[in-house]
Amino acid sequence: MLPLTETQIRSSFVNCTQGEVKRITVPRDLADQRWDDLDFFGWNDPTYAGRAYLVAPGSDDQLIGVALRYETGGTRKAQMCKICLTTHPSGGVSLMTARKPGAAGRNGNTVGTYICTDLDCSLYARGEKTPALGRQYREDLDVGSKIDRVRANVAAFLARVSD
Ligand SMILES: [Zn+2]
Repeated sequence: MLPLTETQIRSSFVNCTQGEVKRITVPRDLADQRWDDLDFFGWNDPTYAGRAYLVAPGSDDQLIGVALRYETGGTRKAQMCKICLTTHPSGGVSLMTARKPGAAGRNGNTVGTYICTDLDCSLYARGEKTPALGRQYREDLDVGSKIDRVRANVAAFLARVSD
């Protein structure tokens, strides 16, 4: 994806109030991110445990950002990320939920999915990062197809949030 600025990131959130957007801690090292290797930009809030953010280019290149919540120290079982299909040991995958935008969100409607807790799905798909659990389900899928899958799964998740 193309490099993002803090302004672009802050203005992308679809499920936050303006006050919430102001309080989001955006990473300071945006210039050092590996943008060429990212299908979406995701990070954990260093100030609030259990809060994470995901920003991805939408179909018309409009950025879509969502704030996510998850329970830290959740399940002890190994789990598979629904975005990049990487299996991680305990804690490596979290059930992350996004409040829906607008009235639906204010009424408590959320959408959730299992995602790599470090939100580095793009790097796992490219083999740039290896999960702590060595044993993986082996599949004959080239990197390009894995990248397409990450993009499709993120788009599907964002569509469910905004639906
Ligand atoms: Zn993942």
